[in-house]
This record gives sequence, C-alpha cells and structure tokens, in this order.
Amino acid sequence: MSKEQKILIVDDSEMNRAILADILGGEYEIIEAENGVEGVANIQKYGVEISLVLLDVVMPQMDGFGVLEMMHQHRWIEDIPVIMISSESGSAFVERAYEMGVSDFISRPFDALVVHRRVVNTILLYAKQKRLISMVAEQIYEKEQQSSLMIDILSHIVEFRNGESGLHVRHVHMLTELLLNRLVQMTDRYPLTHQDIALISTASALHDIGKISIDEAILNKPGRLTDAEFKIMKSHSRIGAEMLKGLADYQGEPLVRTAYEICRWHHERYDGRGYPDGLKGDEIPISAQIVAIADVYDALTSERVYKSAYSHETAIRMILNGECGAFNPLVLDCLTEVSPHIQEEMLREAPMRANEQEMSNLTREMMQSEDLAISARTLQLLEREREKYTFFAAMSQEIQFEYNISPPMLTLSPWGAERLGMSELIMDPANDPQVMKLLGRKVWEEVVELLHHAAPEDPVIQYDLKLRIGGDLRWHRVVARAMWSPDEPREYQGAIGKAIDIHDSRLRLEDLERAATHDAMTGLLNHASARKLIVDRLDGEKHNYALVIFDLDHFKDANDTYGHMFGDEVLKLMADKLRQSVRGTDIAARVGGDEFLLFIRYLDDATPIITRIFGALIGQYEEFTISVSMGVSTTQSVSRDYDDLFRAADQALYAVKRSGRGQFRFYDESMSQMLSVISPIDREEDSADTQPETATTDNKE
Ligand code: GH3
Ligand code: MG
Repeated sequence: MSKEQKILIVDDSEMNRAILADILGGEYEIIEAENGVEGVANIQKYGVEISLVLLDVVMPQMDGFGVLEMMHQHRWIEDIPVIMISSESGSAFVERAYEMGVSDFISRPFDALVVHRRVVNTILLYAKQKRLISMVAEQIYEKEQQSSLMIDILSHIVEFRNGESGLHVRHVHMLTELLLNRLVQMTDRYPLTHQDIALISTASALHDIGKISIDEAILNKPGRLTDAEFKIMKSHSRIGAEMLKGLADYQGEPLVRTAYEICRWHHERYDGRGYPDGLKGDEIPISAQIVAIADVYDALTSERVYKSAYSHETAIRMILNGECGAFNPLVLDCLTEVSPHIQEEMLREAPMRANEQEMSNLTREMMQSEDLAISARTLQLLEREREKYTFFAAMSQEIQFEYNISPPMLTLSPWGAERLGMSELIMDPANDPQVMKLLGRKVWEEVVELLHHAAPEDPVIQYDLKLRIGGDLRWHRVVARAMWSPDEPREYQGAIGKAIDIHDSRLRLEDLERAATHDAMTGLLNHASARKLIVDRLDGEKHNYALVIFDLDHFKDANDTYGHMFGDEVLKLMADKLRQSVRGTDIAARVGGDEFLLFIRYLDDATPIITRIFGALIGQYEEFTISVSMGVSTTQSVSRDYDDLFRAADQALYAVKRSGRGQFRFYDESMSQMLSVISPIDREEDSADTQPETATTDNKE
C-alpha cells in the first residue's frame, strides 16, 4: 500500500514517538512534532493532507489542549480527527478532551494492537463521513445552482434595463460574501452561519429588482436627475420589497425574507439619513448593511451613463471618508481588511460557484440541522453496528474474517487470529508473507476471484481448504459473503465470512450450508440452489413437471405507500403461502425481488394444481391487495431442459404482465417471439428489469 496518508504524532517524549511510529509507520507516513507549537505548525503546513493527529497532553510550550484550541479556532478540527493519548484518565479530564472534539482517547500504557485498530477505524470513519458530506454537498450544490440560475436571469433583466454591465450582480454577490465571511471572523455581534451567508449572498442578486418599474428615461438618464426624478428613482427600494411581499405563498421562505430586507433597506445609512424608512444603526439588518456597501463600491468602480469608473483605491477612500454616506464602523473595518483581495476575487472565474471548502462547511452545518439530521444519525448507526460487530467477533470462538479491497486489508476475529497465529489486522494481504504462507498464492487468488465474481443475487461462496493449526493441517470450509456498496452502481467492496473446521463442527456446518443455499429473508431456497435441484430431478425421474414463475403486481406501490418493511412482510407472507400450498416433493424458491419460482410434479394435467395454488396466493394483506402474474411451462409442452423451461415460463409471465396482470397463463408458441417483437421502449416502460436485447433468463441467473 502506498503511504499517501500522513499521521502527525505530537509528543515531547522521543521514546513515545518512536513506539507509535513503529506501530503505524508501516502503513502511514509519520510526521513528528516535539511540542504543541511544532504540532500546530505542521497542521498549518500540511492541512487536510494529515489524516489523523495523535496528541499527547503534557508538553512544553503548548500542551495538547492548546493544540485542540488552535484546531478549533482554525476549524481544522472539522476535517482532521484527533486521538488523544495520555496517562491521565480521570473522567473530568477525558470528558474535557471529548468536549474539545477529539475522536478517541487512549490511556497509557496502551496496547499496540489497540492503538493500531483505533487509528485505522478513525481514519476509515472520517473517510466515510467525508464521502457522505461530499455526496450531500453535490446535491445541495445542484439545487442551489438552479435557484441561482433563476435569480441570475431575473437580475440580468433588471441590469439590462438599467444599462448596467452584466457583472454588477456578480460583483455584489462576491463582495457580500467576502465581507460577511470577514465580519464573522472579526466579531460575534452578528452570529451568522455559513448557511446564512450563502443565503444573503444569493439574495443580494435581487437588491435592485424594484428598478424594473422605473421609467427607462430616468434609469438611463446621462445627466443629473431632477428632484422629482430622484424621488421616482428612490422608490425602487420600496417597490422591490413590495414585489417580494406580493409572493404570498413564499413569505415563510428564508430567501424571500432576506431578499425583502435587502431590497427595502440597501439604501438606508447608518446615521439614519438613508431611504426609504430612515432606519438607524443596527435597525438596518446586517444583510442590507453589507449589500449597501458592496453596491456602492461596485457602482463607484464601474462606468455608468452618468459617470466614468473610479479606481479601486479612490472608491475605497471615498467610502471610508464618508462621501457615500455613513456605514457601520465594523463594516468599514471589514472593507478595509478585504480591500487588498477584492480585485483578485473579481477576476476569478465563475464567482457564483462557491468553493469546495465553503460548500463542505455549508453542508456540514446543514447536516447538523433538523432537515438532514438523518444523515448524521445514519453515520452514528453505522458506527454502532461496527461496535456491535467487533464486540461479537471478539467473543466468538470462530475464525471470522472481513476482507476489504480498498484499502486492501484483512481483519481477523481475535480468536481466529490467535488460532492461526496471525495478526488481527493485515494490510495488503495479497502481498503479506503470513497470508501466503497460510494459504498459498493459488488458493488466495481462487477465493478472491470467486468472491469478486459472485453476483448480488447469489453472494455466498464456499471453498474447502487446509489450514495449519498449531502443527496440524486441518480441512476447513470457508463460507463467505461478497459485499457491495449499497448505492448504484453497486461497487464490489470485499467480503465477510468464516472458516469452519470441518471435523469439529457438523452442526454449525449445516447452518452455514443453509446460509449459502437459502434466501435469508423468506427462508426459501435461492435461485441458484433451486436450479441445481431442479436440474437433478429433470435428469432423473421421468415424471411430468411444471415450472411456475410468478411476480407480484405493482409491488413497488406497496413499498412506496406503506414502507419497505411492510413490503418485506408481504414477501414473507408469500413465502409462507407457498410453503403451505406445495407438497414436500415440490420445490419453491425466491428468484429475487418480488419474483418466485415453483417446480411441481403432476400426473396428466397441471391446470387444477396451478389453479389451486394461484388462488391461494392472491388476497388481501392489510390494505394491500395481493395480485400476482404467473407464467407456467411444462415438460410436456416445452422440454426437459431447465433453461428452456425457465425461459418459456418467463415469457408466459411476461405475456400476462402485458395483458393486464393478475392471471396465470401456460406457455404457448405464440409467446415465443414475445420479447423480440415488442419494441424496446414499450418493454422498458413495462418491465424495468428486462433488458431489450437479451432474453429475460439471462438476467436472472
Ligand atoms: P409489476 O406489476 O410490473 O411487477 O410492477 P412492480 O411494482 O411489482 O415492480 P417490479 O416487479 O418490476 O419490481 C419489484 C419491486 O420490488 C422493486 C423493488 O422496489 C421491490 N423489492 C425487491 N426486493 C425487495 C425486498 O427484498 N423487499 C422489499 N420490501 N421490496 C423489494
Ligand atoms: Mg412485480
């Protein structure tokens, strides 16, 4: 594994640093700092390149809590996890550490393995969280961009009429954001969140919409306005606000409320000499105060029909001198401070696109708020699942393992590791001498290959191999389940499983066998194992058999209306009904999703049995009406080949879905062309999981 990830160790004892570096140096690049000041300097230098900080508490110059305080001030703590290591373990002390944002606390003396495990876990968890944040950020960004686009269009209409360049709105937006960010760093007087800042900056684009109602002759008059004309011109702030007030349906919207403040009061002045309401000091909302100064700056530095452009320096001087009216002294300080950056910011491409850091701050904040609390909760749940899993793994007397492909690592349960005489955590197992000695490259590659090629419908693999336990070689059966990412496209991520000593544990083997051949939720056979059994029957006795495939009608509606758990209950009920209505010699299986399969022996005519089973399946489950579409093929009418039978039954099922659902039909020749006759578009509409060019059976095995 490449050592891209850096860990910063801040500890004044060289011995301690050396021990930690030994534990972690194999997988991570280690940066060492002798005291808090050096630690902070390194965080400043490497930023988020640092994946984790291991922090001692008592150190000269600046102690661990001092470092945490700096990390808060600069908001590094949001992106870089910290594990504190200390021999102090009083609860008040530990609590203080957690309050200051550490992710974990390890007390001395520590166990090397524990440190290693916690470091890896913390880094993985943070990576997960970052991925989640960036996913949500993308979604928020997309939404934001659409409303920004609408606002952009609207404000450009106004600019077009005003004869202003299309840049005014963008400049005001950019300046507003720049000033507000500076303001919250300078003072606590206006407690604005990232979200508020984004909202005000977006709403700033609407500051002049009232000008749409002003006569063009006045708007674009080159010379000085008469008093009467100026009075009309001044009405734009009140009119803009009225227009927003007219949006009766949206009064609760923060964007509309903020835009209202800005429209109405961006010509107010701090000393009460502005218009339209003569508000004074902080009676003027901070949003309007900031947009006002941004608006003035951009008006001064742009060319207008009635004036030429002033230079940046002149504009700043004029505003600070009070030539453009009085502003809040704090806001003026802000302007002075951001002044050197204004021009470079203005030249930046696409100023409307919030930079990545802002976007992720914004997202983090929104995730903490009510609307998105679920995401943070999900993360906590994930972590809890993990804790449960590690706890049970630690207790079980089994060789359990978890295999992860990125980063490549193999984790063994503590008991398993001890039994095999290996480490609990093995990074890059494919190149690890312990693993290769235990399994040999060939076996390793075969198992990895099997897992990688398992399909989500049939994720469990079995593999028998000899493992060296103590001095003996003993046969073990590896039963493992391949794992994929939950979201589409599903990416293969690794596997979990057990290795069972075959001679040791007959009983447990049966359980495992069951896990490999049965569907966990309904307890029915899975498709792969049903297929094997059916192929055997077809080859053996020469009886007549019917293969039945059925699929619930409109099952998505049940999920959508009553929830996925309700859907699961319906599926379990279908499995119960199947068990009740078939004989012991028949085979029932869940093909996948809401599709089931039955293999039934009959004498001369399958119709009565099928009619009876069909009748037993349909009915009511609470509010949901269970209806099924069923296709049947028989060995008499098709062949004794499983794949032929499956395809024919599937085509018959398809014919039922096409003709209105809720029936069963036997396969006949007229259906043989069914799938190729229908146009791909029709088919996509009708059956989401049917691919146009291939027969359905290809997808379902
Ligand atoms: P149709 O009448 O055409 O069959 O429509 P349908 O709504 O039943 O949709 P379709 O058969 O194409 O899709 C089956 C749906 O079943 C898709 C998925 O939402 C749902 N589903 C699949 N597996 C499960 C499961 O394990 N539990 C639950 N609750 N729902 C599932
Ligand atoms: Mg269905």
